This record gives sequence, C-alpha cells and structure tokens, in this order.
Amino acid sequence: MKKRIGILTSGGDAPGMNAAIRAIVRTALYKGYEVLGIKHGYKGLINNDIVKLDHHSVANIIQRGGTILGTARCDEFETERGMHRAKKVIDKNKLDCVIVIGGDGTMRGAKEFSEKFGVNLIGLPGTIDNDLYGTDFTIGFDTAINSALEAVDRIRDTASSLERVFFIEVMGRHAGFISLAVGLAGGAEDVIIPETPTDIEEIAQTIQNNIKKGKKSNIIIVAEGDEAGNALTIARKVKKLTGEDYRVAVLGYIQRGGAPTANDRILASKLGYYAVESFENNRFGVMVGEIEGKIVYTPFEETYSIKKPVEDHIYKMIKILSG
Ligand code: ATP
Repeated sequence: MKKRIGILTSGGDAPGMNAAIRAIVRTALYKGYEVLGIKHGYKGLINNDIVKLDHHSVANIIQRGGTILGTARCDEFETERGMHRAKKVIDKNKLDCVIVIGGDGTMRGAKEFSEKFGVNLIGLPGTIDNDLYGTDFTIGFDTAINSALEAVDRIRDTASSLERVFFIEVMGRHAGFISLAVGLAGGAEDVIIPETPTDIEEIAQTIQNNIKKGKKSNIIIVAEGDEAGNALTIARKVKKLTGEDYRVAVLGYIQRGGAPTANDRILASKLGYYAVESFENNRFGVMVGEIEGKIVYTPFEETYSIKKPVEDHIYKMIKILSG
C-alpha cells in the first residue's frame, strides 16, 4: 500500500500557502505517495473533513492568495478529547504523516499532539507575522509587507500634501517584524513595535523636530500590538504633547490577501519540497525553515518558545535615514 501524507493549513491564512500545498502534492506524487487535503485546519482533522488531492487539484493555484484548503482556529483541538478525535481520524484515513502549515499556535498544537498521541507531524511556517524561530522568513511575510508598503506609499502622497502627521497601523500582535520592514522600506519617520518600550515624549519630539526642519510629511508606523496602545490611542497621546493634527490609517486585512510575491512562492515551493523529503527521511516533530539559504529543521517547541529577535539596529537606522 502506498504511504499517505495529509496536509492542513491552520491559524491565519497567508499568501503562499497554496504554493506550499502545490509543492507538497507534486513532490509527494512524484515520490509515489498519496496525498489527502484536510479542510479548515485542525477542525477538519477532528471532523474528518478530508479530500484526496491529485495533480489537477493543485493546478493553477501557485499565484493565488489564501488557501484552497481553508483555515480555521479550533478551540476543541486544544482539549484532550479533541486531539483524541483527531487521532482516530488519522488512523481511519491511514495517514503516515500530516504536514501542518501555520503560525506559532499551529506549532504549539503540533507539539502537543505529536507528543501526547505519537503521531508523525511536520510543520511549515505559514504566517504573515514572521514571528517563528527557525526560519529567516515565514511564508506570507514578504507579500504582507509589500501590500502594506503600497498603501504607505499612497498615504505619503496625501501626508505631504496635507502636511499632517499620519499614524499607520500594521499587523503584528506580538511582533514588530512587519512594522520594522515597512518602516524601513517606506521611509517612515518613526516605528512603534511591541519589542521595545514606547516613549510618547520621544515620538512627539521627533515630530516637532521634523516640522521645524521643514519636513512636509511625518509617517509613523505602529504595530497593532504595541504596549502603549493601537495607532489611534498613540496618536491621541502624541497630539496632547505636540498639538499637531493627525490622521490614522489602519491597514488591517488588506495585508493578508493578494497574490503571493515571487519571494513567497519560492520559499513556499522550497519548503513544501523539503517537507516531503523530511517525511521520506522519517524526520518528524520539526518545522522546516530556511536560514541564510540553508534548509533547517527546528523542533516544534523551539519555534515558539525561543523568541526570534527583531533587528534592533534597523530601529535606529530608520530614524537616521528619515533625517
Ligand atoms: P497566526 O500566526 O497567523 O495567527 P497561528 O497558527 O498562530 O497563526 P492560532 O490561532 O494561534 O494561529 O493557532 C491555530 C490553531 O492551533 C488553534 O486554533 C488551535 O486549534 C491550535 N493550537 C494553538 N495552540 C494550541 C495548544 N497549546 N494546544 C493545542 N492546539 C493549539
């Protein structure tokens, strides 16, 4: 009997997940395995919501955002009973392994499930947040920052015409990767991230200095999860000190969708391919990532318990470059 691999996408959807699914399916079929797609993440695993995937099922999806398998957040999977049901479905479908694509929550679930029930799981980093240890970039991050950047560029036109201070909120509940990347690439005047304490007085000072210097636009990028509050809260606090009028733009879900960039498709294709190779080599309980051009395998627990550091020097650089 042919060996069987299951695939699921879980947590928030991320552009490039489809390219990863395609790579897994095509590599697995090439190597003589069967592939089943599990719908809506761990929820589909519990409910036996499963379809067979062949060559054609993944045709024409490499360029599509979202995930053809659907994704979900599933509280039941966090219980012993939920995992027990999922294990039964794995046995019933005779799955030799499940490849899970998602963020830190997905890796937490994978760690618990594989340890408690002895199932063979392999992880792929699929989240726009880039907050997983064990890979330089996660699938979806590059597309998200490019989408956000396009919006920032447009807002800059208005900011400089109106001569207003703009606070632009980007995604990142716990991490400032998106904020830092968009801040640097978008030529922002300041960046506010959860990893560093936010000094409202310093931000106000920066804005006032910029205005004195004759700068027409002031763009401050705010990660949604900053400890000082969201973009609106921070903007209000800053206005109390500067008296300057402000505008707030919350980019929200536009950062999630859209066709994946070349970088995301390339990363997803590589990691999907190597996930199947990892299965072939009986290497389970790990997330497949890429660090400095090399494929690396990181135990599930490390991917979320070790904090991936943000590049602090970029923070300083943004201020210097914005002059
Ligand atoms: P994103 O980074 O895009 O938010 P994520 O993978 O972190 O993606 P979560 O909603 O945190 O998204 O997690 C996805 C799912 O993983 C949860 O809905 C739940 O089913 C499962 N999960 C998360 N944590 C655990 C845990 N400790 N034990 C079991 N399952 C978990």
